[in-house]
Amino acid sequence: MSERVIPIITQPLGNLPLPTLVEGTHALSGDSLKDRLHRPLRDLRISVTDRCNFRCSYCMPKEIFNSDYTYLPHSALLSFEEITRTAQSFIALGVEKIRLTGGEPLLRKNLEILVEQLAALRTASGKPLDITLTTNGSLLARKAQSLKDAGLKRVTISLDGLDDAIFKSMNDVDFPVSDVLEGIAAAQAAGLGPIKVNMVVKRGTNEQEILPMARYFKGTGIALRFIEYMDVGATNGWRMNEVMPSADVLKMLQTEFSLTPLAPSQIGETAERWGYLNAQGEHDPLLGEVGFISSVTQAFCSDCNRARLTTEGQLYLCLFATQGYDLKSLVRDNPDPNAMTHAIAAIWSQRGDRYSELRRAEKDSPNAPSDQANATRRKVEMSYIGG
Ligand code: SAM
Ligand code: SF4
Ligand code: SF4
Repeated sequence: MSERVIPIITQPLGNLPLPTLVEGTHALSGDSLKDRLHRPLRDLRISVTDRCNFRCSYCMPKEIFNSDYTYLPHSALLSFEEITRTAQSFIALGVEKIRLTGGEPLLRKNLEILVEQLAALRTASGKPLDITLTTNGSLLARKAQSLKDAGLKRVTISLDGLDDAIFKSMNDVDFPVSDVLEGIAAAQAAGLGPIKVNMVVKRGTNEQEILPMARYFKGTGIALRFIEYMDVGATNGWRMNEVMPSADVLKMLQTEFSLTPLAPSQIGETAERWGYLNAQGEHDPLLGEVGFISSVTQAFCSDCNRARLTTEGQLYLCLFATQGYDLKSLVRDNPDPNAMTHAIAAIWSQRGDRYSELRRAEKDSPNAPSDQANATRRKVEMSYIGG
């Protein structure tokens, strides 16, 4: 059996220098809880499984995630009830949006039950949560309606191209494009919108799919988002020369389409949005928009309001973090719900993570680590932490 390659360093809460928290002041009020860079906590991404039925080379390369790979045993996973209780504490501290992810979240049995439990929660101001899910789409045709019925609001589906040979080479399990498109159609029919489609662009692999994907989704009400290939984890063999900067993707799109930048729809939004122009030179919402997630070439840490809860209950403060905080022991062993809320508030108030920004700043220094050194640095895997 191979070792798990995920470099999990758990920070036991006992060792965490918790600041003194005063009820009613910064720590327990979602409005005023801020991290060290004055960023609130709004978005919680929950990974519900570390397993996946795809082997995307940029995320779970076959050579590592093979039959010898040791996944988490079921007993290590947070139960739905534990996830819901943990989510309640995050919500008390300001979280308004929850994204279920993985691994492939639809592989988690009876996920609808979790969705139902989360949908029953209310934000600190009494509003329903924005509950969404990121999926590779492979099981969506079967599950879209039951997820909608359970209270899921919308979905983001990953699709890296329309050409079967290219897509199959990227998912590395011979999965056809048509089945993902069926999943997207089922999500549309079930009303799981607005739908977003994520396309990771890898130079030398699928840049020829950029224009066909844009043509296909323009005017469908589905926002296509181009994601720069990121150096997440330490197993995907990331190389800077395989990153296609968003600026280059935009230039390619502009050879065929007229686009205009759109204002962010909310603070902390991950994607820069561009809208299609009509013949009058105005943005036409019916033609839709595209988005760019540029974590490699354009840092966007200053508004990052996202926390990540792993499958086994570790709290991570950044996608590129090397250390998580153990919330599982709290949710399992401490019956006082305030203990969890206090702990999360304490952890968040000490957060200073801004990996992408620092990497960009480092690049200009003479002692900058090479891109390759950065890529193989001990970091948590995307399939473990969730995207
Ligand atoms: N399995 C689901 C899926 O693929 O949508 C959810 C989990 S996946 C880790 C979440 C998102 O991360 C996907 O859109 C995927 O394309 C993206 N992703 C994974 N590895 C990436 C990498 N190295 N660079 C950029 N995006 C990546
Ligand atoms: Fe699986 Fe999603 Fe990672 Fe692809 S990106 S291997 S579908 S978890
Ligand atoms: Fe947020 Fe970390 Fe990404 Fe910066 S690098 S935007 S802090 S997740």
